[in-house]
Amino acid sequence: MVECFKVPDNLPLVGTVYFGIIDRGTNVLQIRPTTFCPLSCIFCSTDAGPNSKRRRTEYLVELDHIMDWTSYLVKIKGEGVEAHIDTVGDPLTYPKIVDLVHQIRELEEVATVSMQTHGHLLNEKVIDDLEQAGLSRINLSIDALDPQLAKRLAGTENYNVNRVIEMAKYITENTSIDLLIAPVWVHPLNDLEMEKIIGLAKELGAGRNCPPLGIQKCERHKFGRRVKEIKFMTWYEFYRRLRELELRTGTKLILKASDFGIRPATTLRAPYQKWEKISVNVVGPGWFKGESLAVTRDKRWVVTIVGAELPEGSEVNVRLLRVKDNILVATISN
Ligand code: SF4
Repeated sequence: MVECFKVPDNLPLVGTVYFGIIDRGTNVLQIRPTTFCPLSCIFCSTDAGPNSKRRRTEYLVELDHIMDWTSYLVKIKGEGVEAHIDTVGDPLTYPKIVDLVHQIRELEEVATVSMQTHGHLLNEKVIDDLEQAGLSRINLSIDALDPQLAKRLAGTENYNVNRVIEMAKYITENTSIDLLIAPVWVHPLNDLEMEKIIGLAKELGAGRNCPPLGIQKCERHKFGRRVKEIKFMTWYEFYRRLRELELRTGTKLILKASDFGIRPATTLRAPYQKWEKISVNVVGPGWFKGESLAVTRDKRWVVTIVGAELPEGSEVNVRLLRVKDNILVATISN
């Protein structure tokens, strides 16, 4: 049974990929208020959703808490910030998603509020509310147009791709929200769907102020789901196929950061080095089985401890295995 951990408001919201805010040194901040997902995609790199076998915990962050940290971090970045609500699940599961968009939009440093979703929870009212709240763009993943294949890829019997397509149409026809269709290319299962999805994006008029498509490569992840029919393309093969599709469809598919206005920007730097030994306090369960959530002694960074489920309240020494993009991962050290 996966437990829900409400992130206490005295915990920092930087340091983990699971919840809070990720700053990779550009003008984009990834905002992660929850880890829940309604789907169980067979290729999911984070083993999310009801069929998850590895997850131990789902995290939920209070709106005021995530807003305090978002306001703090956008000030460090300065003007022209893109707040990208992406999560390791689906952002539409966040109960206060509309308020979150609205409050982020009010921050003067924020130029764009975008969201990544598979769209299973979209309906006309949610879309209208998100538009009113000031959402600039939805990156909508549609991985197949064939309804049976789409269900299979989503790992969810009641996933209805035709309903998601209807919502995509609603977005372009009735709102000012920009739409980017972002399929995951799960080679070879949906190879034949890519050209059809490109046709759909064109037909819908996706990409008013951004590219219409952002095809994503399905990648092998240590804790991702595995299905034996999935073959992982090399990056060379992926780009070769994208180039072929570009020529065949006359659509730009190979994207650069600058296509989204992404540029380097000031960042909050973690004052630690890889392999450094530090002391931390365990504050809760880890996201996956065999992990724990901890906080540094100065209470400014959260740390994921891998390889140990430790009791809350314990103080332990750890060795940092990763200090990159403000994400801290550690293992127990003597
Ligand atoms: S790929 Fe996205 S929508 Fe699908 S299960 Fe994973 S997090 Fe959820």
